[in-house]
Formats: sequence, structure tokens, C-alpha cells
Amino acid sequence: MSLHLYDTSARTVREFVPVESGRASIYLCGATVQAPPHIGHIRSGVNFDVLRRWMIRSGYDVTFCRNVTDIDDKIIRVAAAEGVPWFVVAERNQRAFTWAYQILGCLPPTVEPRATGHVPEMIELMERLIAAGHAYPAGGDVYFDVVSYADRYGSLSNQRLENMRAAGDTDTDSAKHDPRDFALWKGEKPGEPTWPTPWGRGRPGWHLECSAMATKYLGPTFDIHGGGVDLIFPHHENELTQSQAAGDGFARYWMHNGMLKIGAEKMSKSLGNSLLIPEVTKKVRPVELRYYLAAPHYRSAIEYSEEALAEAAAAYQRIEGFVTRAAEVIHDVDAHAPLPQAFVDALDDDLGTPQALAVVHEVVKEGNVALAQGNKEQVARLLAETQNMLDVLGLDPRSEQWRSSGDDSGLRATVDALVGVALEQRQAARARKDFAAADGIRDQLARAGIVVEDTAQGPRWELSR
Ligand SMILES: [Zn+2]
Repeated sequence: MSLHLYDTSARTVREFVPVESGRASIYLCGATVQAPPHIGHIRSGVNFDVLRRWMIRSGYDVTFCRNVTDIDDKIIRVAAAEGVPWFVVAERNQRAFTWAYQILGCLPPTVEPRATGHVPEMIELMERLIAAGHAYPAGGDVYFDVVSYADRYGSLSNQRLENMRAAGDTDTDSAKHDPRDFALWKGEKPGEPTWPTPWGRGRPGWHLECSAMATKYLGPTFDIHGGGVDLIFPHHENELTQSQAAGDGFARYWMHNGMLKIGAEKMSKSLGNSLLIPEVTKKVRPVELRYYLAAPHYRSAIEYSEEALAEAAAAYQRIEGFVTRAAEVIHDVDAHAPLPQAFVDALDDDLGTPQALAVVHEVVKEGNVALAQGNKEQVARLLAETQNMLDVLGLDPRSEQWRSSGDDSGLRATVDALVGVALEQRQAARARKDFAAADGIRDQLARAGIVVEDTAQGPRWELSR
């Protein structure tokens, strides 16, 4: 089996065949930076990071473009409320997003374009659309003429133009030829930032900017366009429409991740704040949060609950426990050891992370048995398999990313030596049958945050969490 992906526009799973053999191009709609991200915003970053890692592992040279929408109505509103320029809000929240992606182990994008840096490309696209008879300037805005494209508009979201309602995306809807026409460009309004165009000053429409940035960096036809399901209509429909109406092939596969839902409870402000990344990472470590977001299938909705978050953390700790113990015995891990076929099949089948993680847990279980039996050869093989699988998912506890956030290897060696001294004294106390003293040493270590465990291979320790 080769990589197959669910394509929203085809409404079925299709084999992935890239535009150019050996290469893959992905455009992911990134943040609109009006506020710092909560875990729902970062889910798509994690899901598409797993896709990217899997494609890299499968041998593709991947170009990954994730944009930043740094101007829109909400950013302008937030800035006005704070009495600061729009770019203060955009910069501040872009930093919060970058930090969140980074601490969750998302590889930095190949390119991260910002809308306001691509106005010339947007003007060019509008000129092409106007020349082709698919767009028109009116009342300071520029609109896409949906009737001129009636037979194809709605193909991505599977609806027909006659059933669509007014776009309602500008204050000057009266200037539109048809209420369903959507804005490519929004004319100047008092107090708003503007950029010059042949049709007057104004600012980018959301849909237009993604088309302009995607084709600038990935070419007129590229492989995959991604985003949350909430973006299918109107955002992605409009991107597809305006790019194809201008003559570009645009994305060949459309992938959409499910939403993170907050149950029946309304997303109150305090609950919303408690789901900001710095808050959630007080409850679980970033790697555990990544596990929580990556473990369900990317197309399914996640119903947020603290219990599920804690369960994900516990599941990750079981994997981590094996890797940590095994690595104490095995020092050379074969980074090129083959992945279990079931794991490969799971990810090739529309990125089946639940099945892929089931394989990881299965291997970990076997690994724990091998550890208990002292079967070093088996442990070496299973550790290599586990770490290689975790690497694909961005969850290897021994990777640079997660190691640096946990302990300092120099300090660990020092603590190891000190704990060794204490454990020798404990052994000596036991040998002379002074069990009170032996337990006292263990308790003292526990108070210092060190958990001692007796194994067939002798005592081992780790920091308590
Ligand atoms: Zn977009």
C-alpha cells in the first residue's frame, strides 16, 4: 500500500500522487493572530506536522507553507480596544503561536508568509480575475463574481450556488452585483490600515491572501491544502474558486482536521483561558499534550475533557517508561531499523494515528517483557522500533526536543552518582538487616523527588513527576 489520503473535494480516500515525483508541497492555513492560541488552534498544526513527518519518512522532499493572517477585522478590533496599532496585536500573537508550535514539537515551516507582505501578489491575482471577467471593483472593494463561475462554485463544499446565502463579508454589500459575491479586497475605512491598489486603497480579503501566498511559494498547482473543517466554506471554497477561475490548477488534495470541542459546556472566557497553551502545559507536559492532540484520527472531533487529557498523559508515560528503561540497557539505537509494517500501513491509510499508536503500545508491551527477561537483543530491536515510530509522530522522549525540556544530561550524571552512593548505603543497611535504616534512605530520596525501584537488574531511579 502507498500513501492514501481523504480528499475533501473528492469526498473519498485517494492515492497520493504528487505533482512532481519525490516532492510534496503542503499549504496549511495558519493563524489569524488576533489572540494567543488555545489547544484547538494548535491541533491542526500538530496534525499536519505528523503528515509532514510521515511524508519525509516516506522519502518525499516536503515544502511546507503555513501562513499568518496578520490583518483582519478582529485584529483591527482588538487593536482599537487596546489603543495600539494593529501590528502590535499581530506581532504579539504571532510570537505566541510560534512559541506554541515550537513547544509542541512542530517542525518550523519551510516558509511562513504573512498576508501584509504579499499585497503585490494579491493585486496581480485580482488583475487576472478582472481580465478574465470573474471579478469587478465596486464601492472601493473588489468582488468575485460568483455567477460568472456558477457551474463550479461550491464544488469543494458540495453545494450549489442557488442554495447559497449572501456572503455578508463587507459593509458595502449594496455595491455587489450579487449578494453571494465575496470580497477579494476591502476598501479603505477610517482608522484602518491600507495598502494602495489600482482600484484605490484598502486591505486584503482573507480568501485572496491564501491563494496569493500558496501559489507564490508552491506554484500554480501544488499537492495538498490543509486546514480545519470549519474553513471548508467559505474560506477554502473561495480560495479554490478564485485561483481556478484565474487559470491556476491550485491544490490537488484538500485535507481537513476535525475540531476540538468543549462538550456541552459553552466555551466561557475562563474555560477558554484555561485552554491556552501556557495553562494546559501546567497540567501536562508539552509532549503529553502533543500525544493528546495527535492520538485521535485527525478527521475526528476531539471532545475536550481533563480526564481524557490525563489519560493521554498516562498512556504516553507508559511508552516513555519503556524507552527510558530500555535506553539504560541499550546505548546504541539503530535509527534506520525498519518500522513495523502494521505501523506503516496505519499511517498510509489516511494517517491512521490511533492504529499506529496501538502498534507502538503493542511493541512497548513486548519490550517490557523482554526487559523483565533480560533479553538484551530483543530489547535493542524493540527499542529501535519504538523510537523510530515515535520519531515519525514527533513523540520520541529521547529526541532533542523533549530531552532538553526535561533534564540536563550533565546534571543527570551527577545525580546518578549521588543516588548511587545512597543506594550503596541502603544495600549495606539491608545486608546487616537494619531495615529501618534502609527504608529511611529510600524515604529521604523520595522526599528529594527520587523514586527508587528494585528490578531484577538491581535498583534503578527516576525523578518523580
Ligand atoms: Zn487560508
